[in-house]
Amino acid sequence: MGRAKKGPKFAKMKKMITSRAIKQHKEEVLNPKKKDLSLEKLPRNVPQVSSALFFSYNTALGPPYRVLVDTNFINFSIQNKLDLEKAMLDCLYAKCTPCITDCVMAELEKLGQKYRVALRIAKDPRFERLPCIHKGTYADDCIVERVTNVQI
Ligand SMILES: [Zn+2]
Repeated sequence: MGRAKKGPKFAKMKKMITSRAIKQHKEEVLNPKKKDLSLEKLPRNVPQVSSALFFSYNTALGPPYRVLVDTNFINFSIQNKLDLEKAMLDCLYAKCTPCITDCVMAELEKLGQKYRVALRIAKDPRFERLPCIHKGTYADDCIVERVTNVQI
């Protein structure tokens, strides 16, 4: 007893920022309580979806598509030097309108300088802004809820 455990050594941030580091930074800034929750092992309330629905999709969907994008979607499009609207057009062969929620916008603003390019792209007037009514700026739950609520 009495021997204190050494804390984890933090890797120096000398090397270039990898996507993993960006993701971690995002998690720390936007959801600082997440680690505590995982330690407590609370019972998770995850709705089960039938595996029969794997790869099934809504056949009633048709162009023009409205594509809900999150923070990382914009970041990876920048990393891969893709124009969001043009790449969607190439991918889906139809007119697409990227949709950005208030909370994704707030996330980008909160993340600061590293994400200023993403923020500028998100403010493009061709993109549709979707207003949010929930509290906070955590976008993941908001996006999941939005796609879950879609009825045909
Ligand atoms: Zn939202």
